[in-house]
Amino acid sequence: MPDKLEEPLNIKKKDQHFIWHPFTQMKEWEQEPPTIIVKGDGVTLTDIEGKHYLDGTSSLWVNIHGHRHPHIDQALLAQINQISHSTLLGLANLPSITLAEKLLQIAPTSESPPEKLAKVFYSDNGSTAVEVALKIAFGFWQYQGKNERRKKLFISFENAYHGDTIGSVSLGGIDLFHQTYGPLLFETIKVPAPTCYRCPIGLQYPSCNMACIDEVEKTMQAHQHQCAGLIIEPLIQAAAGMLTAPPGYLKKIRALCTRYNILMIADEVATGFGRTGKMFACEHEGVVPDLMALSKGITGGYLPLAATLTTQRIYDAYLGEYAEFKTFFHGHSYTGNPLGCAAAIANLEVFEKEETLKNLQAKIQFVKETIDPWKHWTHVGEIRQAGFMIAIELVSDKRTKQPYALEKRMGGLVCQEAKERGLILRPLGNVVVLMPPLSIEMADLETMVSIVGDAIKKVTA
Ligand SMILES: *Cc1c(COP(=O)(O)O)cnc(C)c1O
Repeated sequence: MPDKLEEPLNIKKKDQHFIWHPFTQMKEWEQEPPTIIVKGDGVTLTDIEGKHYLDGTSSLWVNIHGHRHPHIDQALLAQINQISHSTLLGLANLPSITLAEKLLQIAPTSESPPEKLAKVFYSDNGSTAVEVALKIAFGFWQYQGKNERRKKLFISFENAYHGDTIGSVSLGGIDLFHQTYGPLLFETIKVPAPTCYRCPIGLQYPSCNMACIDEVEKTMQAHQHQCAGLIIEPLIQAAAGMLTAPPGYLKKIRALCTRYNILMIADEVATGFGRTGKMFACEHEGVVPDLMALSKGITGGYLPLAATLTTQRIYDAYLGEYAEFKTFFHGHSYTGNPLGCAAAIANLEVFEKEETLKNLQAKIQFVKETIDPWKHWTHVGEIRQAGFMIAIELVSDKRTKQPYALEKRMGGLVCQEAKERGLILRPLGNVVVLMPPLSIEMADLETMVSIVGDAIKKVTA
């Protein structure tokens, strides 16, 4: 809490004076007094003036069971009374062990062929979870025979977003982020994403028979001896604008990775922990990746924590005598942080206790049915939804799918309107995104959806 004696206005000035905000043009930020959030409760946020807002972004895709959930709060307090941090370098700690076991229990598995994830490597954010997957996959091939050592390249998708560190930006496919930093990035092989609304090969789903995947297969075939891995955001490319893939696509990618001996990395940083209606997006298609990156929802939106899960086979490749130096030389100061792990354990316990996933299904259906008619609105190009990841793409011309010029900031204007009506949203360009905490009550969900609709109508009128 801020010092009670300090004027809100003063604090706002200090924010503008001292803080460099992420993904923010600070020249603009300095012109408008910021909204300072001081409290949260359930799906409601309260600002420094006492104004309430609904949290329509799950505090940027991380919150699951609402703010100040008593069970997670209690678990954190209990852990603070034991120890807040101890290292995993040379020592172990209890919460990280309990959490690892739980994560592996709920991770996607398959019976035939029998496959499962068997090891957990901790870090502290989505970008590092991806970096770790990338390095583990790369090293895996380096510890095989001479031929496999040529496998050094990664295949990734156009429009993909995997985080902001140099490795994860290299894997990403958002041009804007590559403009300035291109020279720093390593080379990856980009393949077209299965984005049906603007099909990269100009076909129509389903008559296309998912022809876009042939491109991916051709690339895999051509580069199989140089390719270490393929990284994919399963079911939905989130930051790209919530671009959903057609059903069955993910499963086909899994089969191709197996056929061409390329490790499959599933980036479930956004989709993990129930966001798509199942615990992990891979479960929708019975897919078990070779590596899986988790973060965002892992602690229910409480603390920064991440995990990279992998298979016994990959782990085993790193085993050897000390002097062989096959050790995975990677780790962070806060790897396996006990507080973060305690929050994550409590997060999973709430999933069970409150039957979060079961109760979520009716809410997913409600949103689907309520916003479906909006597809007829003059400036709604497409509505996309994967569970509780909901997106409405606005276009200037519905027939030609002509996007609004980005400078018009239609998404931003909709969010401004929504904020005035008491709902916090954050757009992705011309795409209006709604991603409520999974715990939201039906009445609040109705309010959120109707505010989104009103804001879109107002701005596109
Ligand atoms: C957010 C996100 C990341 C990066 O996570 P950070 O914690 O912001 O570093 C990586 N991959 C996907 C799919 C994401 O949505």
